[in-house]
Amino acid sequence: MSGDAKNPYDNACGQIKICAAQMDIDPGLYEILISPKMVHTVSLPIKMDNGEIKVFTGYRVQHNDARGPYKGGIRYHHEVSMDEVQSLAMGMTWKCALIDIPYGGAKGGIVCNTKEMSIGEKEHITRRYTTMISQFIGPYRDVPAPDMYTDAQTMAWMMDTYSVIQGYSVPEVVTGKPIGLGGSEGRAEATGRGVAIILRETAKSLGMKLKDSTVVIQGFGNVGVNAAMTLYSMGCRIIGVSDSRGAIYDPVGLNPSKVFSHKLETGSVEGFQGSEKLTNEELLELECDFLVPSALGNQITLKNAGNIKAKVIVEGANNPTTTEADKILENNGILLVPDILANSGGVMVSYLEWVQNINRQHWSLTDVNQQLEAKLVSSFKNVWDMKEEKGLNMRDTSLAIGVGRVADAIRMLGLFP
Ligand code: GLU
Repeated sequence: MSGDAKNPYDNACGQIKICAAQMDIDPGLYEILISPKMVHTVSLPIKMDNGEIKVFTGYRVQHNDARGPYKGGIRYHHEVSMDEVQSLAMGMTWKCALIDIPYGGAKGGIVCNTKEMSIGEKEHITRRYTTMISQFIGPYRDVPAPDMYTDAQTMAWMMDTYSVIQGYSVPEVVTGKPIGLGGSEGRAEATGRGVAIILRETAKSLGMKLKDSTVVIQGFGNVGVNAAMTLYSMGCRIIGVSDSRGAIYDPVGLNPSKVFSHKLETGSVEGFQGSEKLTNEELLELECDFLVPSALGNQITLKNAGNIKAKVIVEGANNPTTTEADKILENNGILLVPDILANSGGVMVSYLEWVQNINRQHWSLTDVNQQLEAKLVSSFKNVWDMKEEKGLNMRDTSLAIGVGRVADAIRMLGLFP
């Protein structure tokens, strides 16, 4: 949702302003909706392996908790900024409301490059960050989860640090944990699996056949890999994938499990047997049925939107398309399925993990996947039906549902004092 000219937070506010005007939300309520309730910036001095001391910056933005505890991931990336984290936190508020789970929205991040850090340095930074925000998080306050370049191990360190501070074990303070520590079956795959389910529902609604449909996936991290594998099992032809080092193309179709093994061996998808090498720009502009951006934000912009040849874009990543690009795609008849719907499978299974934890239960993968499937199918149907009825695009429809539910919650709670 970030823009070409403006910063990501201003852009997200701009979108809500349009949405608020259509929904009879008065200016005061609009101000509440766009204002993050709490914003934390922490400095993290870390002794690196070579003995040098480096000070990193971390953020946790708690956007809105009108519908329940704050919820959202923590990302580690050298381009993390306060504006980005604020817009992502806001996105979590609408995402949780859109799929109707009892959470508000938050996001965190640390400005760092994990590719240049040892496992020990990552552990130190995670533990120091958790300590600094420990008084603001908690199972009924704010529940972090993984995001870009964080994973189950990161969550295990966060859980341990928080538990040490509390003096007892608190698995329910974070989701996306390793299964042996109270993590949910199916959580690691949930975002990618959810992307595939939403893509399948989109195809069905458009009367497109999934079998042999061509799919291009940008990003081969947790989301991209799991989306690719699920779509492959549904009969789609994965003709292109990429990672931060490069992109590959095979019109006959790639086997994502084999590409993943190649990436584990060599560090990149590049050089996969029988594939043609492309640039990231070329990959995005490939002719295909479905384009699934599952990497960074700001990938489809004013610059390349006019060259996109996909019929449908399903946003696996958060904020991959700028507002200006949205308009170009719409004018060109490309259907866009927005991030807050397309990648909501991750936070849905985070919610299931939290429910299991607070009830001291552990459910089977079948149970988890059934609930994920049911939730995504009904959320998709809600958006699709309202889009058809109101003649809005899918992003505006999804925002209208999410923002509308949060606005209702704020009205019911009233203002204190
Ligand atoms: N980081 C993921 C997202 O952007 C998951 C958040 C969560 O599970 O709390 O939706």
